Amino acid sequence: MPNKKVSRRNFVAGTVGGLVVGAVAGVAIGEIGFPQTKTTTQTVTTTKQVPQSYSFLTPLDIPASSIKETVSADVVVLGAGISGCAAAASAAEAGVNVIQLEKYSTATAPGEFHGAINTQELLAAGKQTDAAAFAEQLFEFSEGRADYRLLSLWADHSGTVMDWLLGIAKSTNTNYFEIPMEANGLDYLFGPSDMLNNGIGASEFPVVYQMLISYAQGLGAVVRYNTQALKLIRPNNQGSVTGVIAKNSDGTYTQFNAAKAVIICTGDIANNSEMLQKYIPWTAYGLDSAYDIYTNTGDGLAMALWAGANIPDGPGCGMVHFFSTNKLPIMFGRPVMSPGLYVNKYGDRFVNEGAPNEYIAPIVVRQPGHTWWQIFDSQSVNTTLQPTIQAMLTTGEVTTASTIEALAATFGADPTRLGASVDRYNQIIDSGTDTDFGKAATLLGPKNTTPPYYACESPPDYLVGIHGPLTNTSMQVLDTNDVPIPGLYAAGNCTSGFFGDGYPMHLMGGLAKGHALTTGRLAGLNAATGSTS
Ligand SMILES: Cc1cc2nc3c(=O)[nH]c(=O)nc-3n(C[C@H](O)[C@H](O)[C@H](O)COP(=O)(O)OP(=O)(O)OC[C@H]3O[C@@H](n4cnc5c(N)ncnc54)[C@H](O)[C@@H]3O)c2cc1C
Repeated sequence: MPNKKVSRRNFVAGTVGGLVVGAVAGVAIGEIGFPQTKTTTQTVTTTKQVPQSYSFLTPLDIPASSIKETVSADVVVLGAGISGCAAAASAAEAGVNVIQLEKYSTATAPGEFHGAINTQELLAAGKQTDAAAFAEQLFEFSEGRADYRLLSLWADHSGTVMDWLLGIAKSTNTNYFEIPMEANGLDYLFGPSDMLNNGIGASEFPVVYQMLISYAQGLGAVVRYNTQALKLIRPNNQGSVTGVIAKNSDGTYTQFNAAKAVIICTGDIANNSEMLQKYIPWTAYGLDSAYDIYTNTGDGLAMALWAGANIPDGPGCGMVHFFSTNKLPIMFGRPVMSPGLYVNKYGDRFVNEGAPNEYIAPIVVRQPGHTWWQIFDSQSVNTTLQPTIQAMLTTGEVTTASTIEALAATFGADPTRLGASVDRYNQIIDSGTDTDFGKAATLLGPKNTTPPYYACESPPDYLVGIHGPLTNTSMQVLDTNDVPIPGLYAAGNCTSGFFGDGYPMHLMGGLAKGHALTTGRLAGLNAATGSTS
């Protein structure tokens, strides 16, 4: 579940024919700088430009002469997100020498919740989840695209991994604890409490990452920030991966040799428009990114690809299910939270507004212009909402008019079609049954009958775009013959096989980080000990 304190992007709503968003999109791996901040704006066109070829398919050429330093360790972990921090701490705990590389100036920590089932605390409270049944539910949501073995792996280990994390928290007096929740009859851990003490984003440093890094450092691990892994060392793509070449912030290159393994934990591809076009094309429209530091540029996917890994065709997992405006934070971006009438740019109703975000977002992305508007009337703008709506009217994020037809003109909709949608929705509310889209009767409303009328555009935000190499259940990266590449592991959002099209938040909030945490720990332990499945 995203942190509602996430800082806002410089999104300007309501332009016709395109969205104006702040973005650093479309970077290929070799073009990434230090650190990443979003400083420019771009107009996102509504027609997709599909490139003839993709620049990331060509391996980087780093001449040996440019390498000015060589460093050796047993295990080299790439990335200091949750999977990387768990992997580094776990490998260090297993007694090997660890170096962790992070391209940003700190560990990065979007979000706050880590999902898990069957922790000691939950079990002690009698809240046991049937792991196989839960894995099956995840499998069904993925429409058969996830690898059930990886779902099972997570379901079987997430509890013990969370117990491990909580154990470190306890022993280090860190304020990190369980928040048990219920969803769909399944008890699970809506884990811990970063949000109580920390925000997210570049300048803040959530407690769990610092805790894991300090823990690993206490066991001898070394972290190098501002160090971007660029290319794995695997001559002719034969035999083991023996290390990685990375670029330092001063432009010099360092070769990190790994006696045992390299673990790729570099996160997702949502800020690499070429990779989105190739692997998650239905999301490749320059949607605004919820990830405020933009280091999720698919570096791990590219490095694995160049080393001979099996990168599945896709589509990968586009987690695009949050909607924002400038004034209201992500996910809370709809001024009127009761799911009232939503229309597309023509003014047509197109969806059951009461469906979970993960079901609505893919439909929104496929609407003309990849966006939608919430329509409401003066009855919805209560005293509490008044100041917000007033501010949004000033910025143009909300538009208003005294008739529905005039309201249509404020965002370029067809007045007749918007009028028909409003009339029809009002009729549906009166009848108590949504025969058009099947919205639950309890969620029908409010009617739009009392001027002035309002429209608020709430375009989808890109949370994370998950795609990368396939792994086995030891988190070893597989080659194109589905054979593990010796010395190469991967975890978290840079891997494929766990999610289908989206994030099943209706089954479990925190599953994205929960998956990264669990697979990070397993990859770290396996890399250190050489365990294979
Ligand atoms: C605003 C927001 C809120 C979210 N809230 C939640 C939530 O509450 N619960 C949840 O489950 N999920 C949430 N998510 C999703 C969640 O953040 C990710 O699924 C999770 O962080 C993935 O962890 P990871 O370790 O795989 O990747 P990341 O956390 O993305 O970490 C990857 C790391 O690798 C670094 N890196 C990238 N390339 C290189 C390179 N070449 N060399 C070195 N380092 C590199 C990156 O800088 C980054 O630090 C949220 C996402 C966003 C954007």
